[in-house]
Amino acid sequence: MKFGGTSVADLACVQRSAKRVVREVHNGKNIVVVVSAMAGGTNHLISKVVETAPVYDAREYDAVVSSGENITAGLMALTLQGMGVPARSWQGWQVPIGTTATHASARITHIETDNILHKFDEGMRVAVVAGFQGISPEYRITTLGRGGSDTTAVALAAALSAEQCQIFTDVDGIYTTDPRICDRAKKLDQIAYEEMLELASMGARVLQTRSIEFAMRNAVRLRVLSSFVDELDSQGTLVCDEEEIMESKVVAGVACSRDEAKLTLISVADRPGIAAMVFSSLSEANVNIDMIVQNIAEKGRTDMTFSCPNDQVGAAEQALIDIRSNGEVRYDELVVDNSVAKVSVVGIGMRSHTGVAAKMFSVLSKEGINIKVITTSEIKISVLIDRKYMELAVQALHDAFELEE
Ligand code: ASP
Ligand code: MG
Repeated sequence: MKFGGTSVADLACVQRSAKRVVREVHNGKNIVVVVSAMAGGTNHLISKVVETAPVYDAREYDAVVSSGENITAGLMALTLQGMGVPARSWQGWQVPIGTTATHASARITHIETDNILHKFDEGMRVAVVAGFQGISPEYRITTLGRGGSDTTAVALAAALSAEQCQIFTDVDGIYTTDPRICDRAKKLDQIAYEEMLELASMGARVLQTRSIEFAMRNAVRLRVLSSFVDELDSQGTLVCDEEEIMESKVVAGVACSRDEAKLTLISVADRPGIAAMVFSSLSEANVNIDMIVQNIAEKGRTDMTFSCPNDQVGAAEQALIDIRSNGEVRYDELVVDNSVAKVSVVGIGMRSHTGVAAKMFSVLSKEGINIKVITTSEIKISVLIDRKYMELAVQALHDAFELEE
């Protein structure tokens, strides 16, 4: 059972969450509880680091920002003890949870479960583990990247062959789209790992993307629930293998991300090495590229378009200006459009159904929305449109694909 920041935001929340744990203990289960820092706690710690050292040693950053979880782990153990349940806390290094040495975004490499299992044998009922942290081969404290407690929970569930991994948050599950954008958004009872991956990496920020990949690889049954809603009122959303999904719709959800930018290089040479050069320079500038489209060449020249987060446009532009001025890549013009948004429809049903693209595009055209870029994967169709139409597009698509029903 993993409790996110809002579920341990203060002592009353810790109490409420602990009660959920106790109920399961009374059902005869041994539980591993993973906790995040109190809501806002990690942001606060990060700002302290940046204030102290604008350019910082990532090892010390991890030493500081991992500490929020230590507090909630201890408080949760104390609360459970106060409710009469044998419980103790573990920091990541005590488990131990071994990770790579890539500080601030370390990956879990191995988990030793013997310590925890031994304590369960001795009669302990709840092991409270601080999320988000581990220990590197150099015996330094590491963190797993923002949202990393989800991955701690899934990794522990896999290592312990847990029955299920429950992620408690402040929403009662995964929705067909963002309820703030479309009031007809509906909670899903089930969603396939792959659909969840597509939705998570596109701005539905309920689960850390890496935790879903981990769950999929290790077949961990993942349930997203609200710690504020009684379990009799909502079972949340089960993230599981597509084979388990009872009745799947062609489209499971509509995702969107508001702050995108589109950059086009007009008339680059159509020969080997140009794309490599363009995208190497962007990667060196740490620009996160999303969609890439290259037009069919005419007379040996072509246009190349890509999208990136809006706040990285400056870095992208500079990189592209540099490769032109040092003669590496020639192009006529660089066109930047930083008022676009991305809207995507996602569903495993697309593998076997035709007509999803046609439907999506005609819905947008009926609303008078122009499509600027289109990309697809096996289970997703994404378009870039003018940002001011994003809400309209999401609502129209949600209606057209009957996601409310
Ligand atoms: N506290 C960390 C964060 O805010 C990890 C987590 O909550 O998952 O990113
Ligand atoms: Mg989170």
